[in-house]
Amino acid sequence: MLKYTPPKRCTRWMATIFMPLIALIGIIGTPFYIYHNGLALSELALFLFYLLATSLAITAGYHRFFSHATFKTNSFVRFLLLFFGAATFQKSALRWASQHRQHHQFTDTELDPHSSARGLFYCHVGWIMFYKHDVNFGNVKDLSSNKMIMHQHENYDLWSITSGLILPMAIGFLIGHPLGAFIMSFCLRVTMILNMAFFINSSAHMIGKKTFDPDASAGDNWFWSLLTNGEGYHNYHHKFPNDYRSGHLIHHWDPSKWFIFLLSKVGLAWDLKRTSNPTPAVLS
Ligand SMILES: [Zn+2]
Ligand SMILES: [Zn+2]
Repeated sequence: MLKYTPPKRCTRWMATIFMPLIALIGIIGTPFYIYHNGLALSELALFLFYLLATSLAITAGYHRFFSHATFKTNSFVRFLLLFFGAATFQKSALRWASQHRQHHQFTDTELDPHSSARGLFYCHVGWIMFYKHDVNFGNVKDLSSNKMIMHQHENYDLWSITSGLILPMAIGFLIGHPLGAFIMSFCLRVTMILNMAFFINSSAHMIGKKTFDPDASAGDNWFWSLLTNGEGYHNYHHKFPNDYRSGHLIHHWDPSKWFIFLLSKVGLAWDLKRTSNPTPAVLS
């Protein structure tokens, strides 16, 4: 039986300074930069590529692959998921998966790392900025046996700074727009990806239809799915966490399931897990 402890109050200075600072630079700096310098196609392409690659690395990678093992893949795809996942500054895949499994096991109790029962601010960013979490890695033994996953975990700073800052900046220099790369492909992009994950922890546990589990705080909401790369059908996900899809119906906006499906069609993913005939508890 694994032992878990509740979060402890503690101001985490890196998070309290880093997150608001890059948010300010990204949100205020981007319109200023575009107004004064215009927007070259190459820097827009860099931003969009990095936004898509790093958000899929979290939703399809950290979440659906590492945390829930909803499909299998090869070591090349696993490397890309680890590489671009680190670029979001959400800690290692091992730590992320451990805390996420804890969230599923103890949803909305004092052992849930980002319990929505503690209010909107806490489950959005408060749990990262003002609380210390003891992580019990006993719940991710299936991951800790993999050398590449452990390398990313033990050398997380190297991975995250290389993939999240050095590479987009190097490309920015190559295309002649280092300042634009810093403001948009680093500050704005990291702020957007961080808040995509935070919205799932907060809003998706407060607003949405209780389609499959009326007693869960998690809700299904198409609008959150638009903002979070398809993670908005969170009631379904909490009921069926082993399904590679979050939006299980064909018309549900879920780019992460389409990405995994596409990988399977070109032989880069297999054994995709699906819930057969999920029955809604409440007709929506
Ligand atoms: Zn949740
Ligand atoms: Zn999950």
